[in-house]
Amino acid sequence: MKNVLARISAATSRNVRLVAVSKTKPKEAILTAFENGQTCFGENYVQELVEKAKSLPKKIDWHFIGHVQSAKVKDLCNIENLSFVETIDSIKLADIFQKRLSLTERKTSLNVMVQVNTSCEENKSGVKEDNAESLILHIIKNCDKLNFCGLMTIGKFGVPGTPYFHKLVDLKDKLLNNQDIKEKFNSGQIFELSMGMSGDFEEAIKAGSTNVRIGSTIFGART
Ligand SMILES: *Cc1c(COP(=O)(O)O)cnc(C)c1O
Repeated sequence: MKNVLARISAATSRNVRLVAVSKTKPKEAILTAFENGQTCFGENYVQELVEKAKSLPKKIDWHFIGHVQSAKVKDLCNIENLSFVETIDSIKLADIFQKRLSLTERKTSLNVMVQVNTSCEENKSGVKEDNAESLILHIIKNCDKLNFCGLMTIGKFGVPGTPYFHKLVDLKDKLLNNQDIKEKFNSGQIFELSMGMSGDFEEAIKAGSTNVRIGSTIFGART
């Protein structure tokens, strides 16, 4: 953990959020990291997150970073300390979150990012770049239980020049030409770019990432 934090601050003087990706790792490992000062953790599977969130400290900020099936939205919305869902990729999914959140006691809106499939691989989730704007406008205009925060992408590891990270940055710049989207960020809220994993987070930070999702470098390889 310390090592990763040191590498992040060596790569930038900006504040970059570290999401410690704890999927498949035991609760004890999360608790140890939490006791050492780490507050953000990322999980990919709803059932696993529900289980972990139940018994781990409520001060943890959970980020959901996996593909969300409609039927699982309800379980996610019941986690009071769910901080971010980074993987909204359709209007239908945004509407289901909006509806479920209206039925919970949650007092704050849920932070969300729109996942973009920058590498256009069929096995990766996310909207195509061209479809991001209409989804974001839908969230801003029709989903008051959701707080649109920015974009997330996985990209493709090992491609030199990090084209996928630059694609996400370019998309953000393009989106900010839209008045309604621009207005959302006028009051100082930062436009998040969630990109960078164990193998490529330093490059992602150099490209402009505000939120890196790092698992195996912190917790060891997943077996
Ligand atoms: C597993 C996962 C990560 C973390 O990957 P590592 O290579 O272990 O750092 C980050 N983002 C997403 C979406 C993941 O599924």
